[in-house]
Amino acid sequence: MKIFVVNCGSSSIKYKLYSMTNETVLASGVMERVGEARSQLSHTTNGQKHQFAVEAPDHTAGLKDIIAKLTDPDVGVLESVDEIRGVGHRVVHAGERYTDSVLIDDEVIDVIEDHFQLSPLHNPPNLAGIRAAIEAMPDTPQAAVFDTAFLATLPERAYTYAVPHEWQQKYRVRKYGFHGTSHRYVTHQTAEVLGKSVDEVNLITCHLGNGCSMTAVHNGRAIEHSMGMTPLAGLVMGTRSGDIDPAIVFYIMKAAGLSVDQVDKALNKESGLLGVSGISNDMRDLLIEAEKGHPGAQLAAELFAYRIIRYIGSYYTILPELDAIVLTGGIGENSQPIRAKVCQGLGRLGVKFDPRRNETTIRGKLGPITTDDSALPVLIVPTNEELMIARDTRALVERVLAG
Ligand code: ADP
Repeated sequence: MKIFVVNCGSSSIKYKLYSMTNETVLASGVMERVGEARSQLSHTTNGQKHQFAVEAPDHTAGLKDIIAKLTDPDVGVLESVDEIRGVGHRVVHAGERYTDSVLIDDEVIDVIEDHFQLSPLHNPPNLAGIRAAIEAMPDTPQAAVFDTAFLATLPERAYTYAVPHEWQQKYRVRKYGFHGTSHRYVTHQTAEVLGKSVDEVNLITCHLGNGCSMTAVHNGRAIEHSMGMTPLAGLVMGTRSGDIDPAIVFYIMKAAGLSVDQVDKALNKESGLLGVSGISNDMRDLLIEAEKGHPGAQLAAELFAYRIIRYIGSYYTILPELDAIVLTGGIGENSQPIRAKVCQGLGRLGVKFDPRRNETTIRGKLGPITTDDSALPVLIVPTNEELMIARDTRALVERVLAG
């Protein structure tokens, strides 16, 4: 069965076409500058990357072009678009409405629209992609896989903010969480590695990329999470501040005369690793500069690891059991110095760091970076959100086929 995975951003369309027989990627790519006068498509098949200048004034035109490439005699991998049996869409926000992936119908579209205000940057382009795919493939089942779904099981005490009642009731102010598809994927992979069923596994999963979040998983379900009503909360990220005293917002608006939009931009795009180091949001650059003695880069790396350690400590106390700590995302999967700092801060939990394993477990490798006698293993588990979306879509399509 061939499944097409689509992730639409405001000006981009990312895609992967899977053969689900052996979960291999037949084609993948990204179209950028969608909506501008000239768009670019980077399309990869059989390990070969092809670049095209295309016209994609909107997502519908962009997706049509991508489908044309998939069926192109030279760079394509399909005889006909009918070979695609299901389309899986990444959708960021469904609030508390869905705890699982769903086949898209009018009601699902209404729910996605209903969350535009809570996810103004992501839900509208996600829905544009869905409409474009329905137009291009009207007879093919389409599935929505939500970033929030895995986190919709958080208990009330974890998702409630101690703010006025009306904010919660009328304006839906609560923690929703994000990166759920990644946390769910690594939870499934880790359960397999540990030889447990998913509903028996207890983990702290850390997604450390440009955006960073952590989830406490009890018996396969999320019970706590570090992002909040928006992705700004929690860990120190590439350009997002993570947790701060909320009163800083009022203080800086008054002291520096900043508008709401300026503070929003500063906390989302100019803070985090970039704000602390003053030079970069990229952990690779920072580690190089830190090595050379740059104080801002050193502090940024220190703060990044310290915040993770602090969160792990708090999740440790609320989880009735803990099988492993899982690190994933670009930094989790690759950055040996950060992984070392995190593990070295967890000695009181019985974590015994293994520097040799830390050196060798990189670039897509799965494995522990702790010793065999560590009381608590720390595992590197590469994430794969697209594959999770493809698996969910296949399962939903199979359900349809089974009647
Ligand atoms: P996104 O959240 O955009 O998907 P990624 O998961 O790719 O991002 O993570 C990006 C982060 O991972 C960047 O800070 C980058 O520096 C870091 N990263 C990627 N590879 C390495 C590496 N080999 N060493 C250190 N950091 C790395």
